[in-house]
Amino acid sequence: MNLHEYQGKELLGRYGVPVQKGILAHTLEEAEAAYRKIQDESGSDFAVVKAQIHAGGRGKGGGVKLAKSMDDLREHAGNILGMMLKTPQTPGGLDGAGKLVRKVLITEDAYKPDFDSCKEYYISILTDRERKCNVIVYSTEGGMDIEKVAHDTPHLVHKEAVDPQLGLQGFQARRVAFNLGLSGLAFKNMVKFISKLYNAYVKADASLIEINPCMHNGHDEMLAVDTKMTIDDNSMFRHKDIIDWRDKDEEDPAEVEADEFGLNYVKLDGNVGCMVNGAGLAMATMDVIKISGGEPANFLDVGGTADAKRVEQAFKIILKDPNVKAILINIFGGIVRCDRVANGVVEAYKNMGDSINVPIIVRLQGTNADIAKQIIDESGLAVRSAILLQEAADLVKEALA
Ligand code: GDP
Ligand code: MN
Repeated sequence: MNLHEYQGKELLGRYGVPVQKGILAHTLEEAEAAYRKIQDESGSDFAVVKAQIHAGGRGKGGGVKLAKSMDDLREHAGNILGMMLKTPQTPGGLDGAGKLVRKVLITEDAYKPDFDSCKEYYISILTDRERKCNVIVYSTEGGMDIEKVAHDTPHLVHKEAVDPQLGLQGFQARRVAFNLGLSGLAFKNMVKFISKLYNAYVKADASLIEINPCMHNGHDEMLAVDTKMTIDDNSMFRHKDIIDWRDKDEEDPAEVEADEFGLNYVKLDGNVGCMVNGAGLAMATMDVIKISGGEPANFLDVGGTADAKRVEQAFKIILKDPNVKAILINIFGGIVRCDRVANGVVEAYKNMGDSINVPIIVRLQGTNADIAKQIIDESGLAVRSAILLQEAADLVKEALA
């Protein structure tokens, strides 16, 4: 689950990570009230209006603005709320349609009053699956495009691998602070910052925390000014208190719907829809599609019970994607018999009537595979059947030609 900046900051705050204060607003009135509160608490007229969407680079698209007065605030919050914000990370990038901004975070201006002496660092923690460890990625060149820094000046991006069994060791936190060029109080505060952040990463079951920028102010304090955070979905049973933080407006609608049906669906960019039982078979099927010259349009694991209802739901979800030019159904009938699945496919197809407008290739293997093939072949529907995976692949190739 991806979190909004305001949610990530709330969560990090609970683990003692110093974060910039802010108040969420859905309307102009709420934004004005939030500004007054921040004015009162900080004693400053400066505040920042920040679009809350699941994408980075908001500053570049005009989604982060400094307000120096109530008039400024009204103008910026008025512009940002309801805008289609385009950033390098929204669909289609800066030339795309952008993402609708439904809420803004009003924050105190963390850079006041010593703007010129503030430094910005990049700090993130993520899971390195290849090395089977957590890794802290950090750089003195924070605030801007870390991708550009990594590309142009890779020696300025450092990594600290942390063994998840041992946890973060003191010398490792000190090495991070040292490599950031810090000494004295700033060094101590950075060691604390990194330790708290790592603890939050582990306790919250995060798979990513990115702080860009982590601000180092004139008093040598460290502060998370921006936060991007992802929580491992498989851990949500441990985090019931944040389950309703999920923002379905920010997610792919087909993925949200699939989740409601308990289907394991991930949308991809290709042209062949796949409906498979079992994650391993699903991946093998995607490989076969690629080898046949297609590109998988999705990953979809219908699970053990591939009955008519689930097959129909899966069809509907796959067909929402306009890029789909063919659908390959590849089911191994072990627990669920192939003839049952075949009947399910036929029934679902009939129920859906005209809405299926792409060729369907069905490959059923396992218990009663031959009966299943007969059911498909005799159904009179525009469904091609196969028993061997290679035959299915050839039919996919034909369908795309
Ligand atoms: P992003 O563009 O989506 O990464 O959003 P950020 O939260 O990182 O904000 C973008 C930029 O706005 C930062 O790199 C800062 O330079 C600036 N910014 C963010 N917060 C403040 C603030 O409190 N005061 C000032 N003056 N600038 C800020
Ligand atoms: Mn940022």
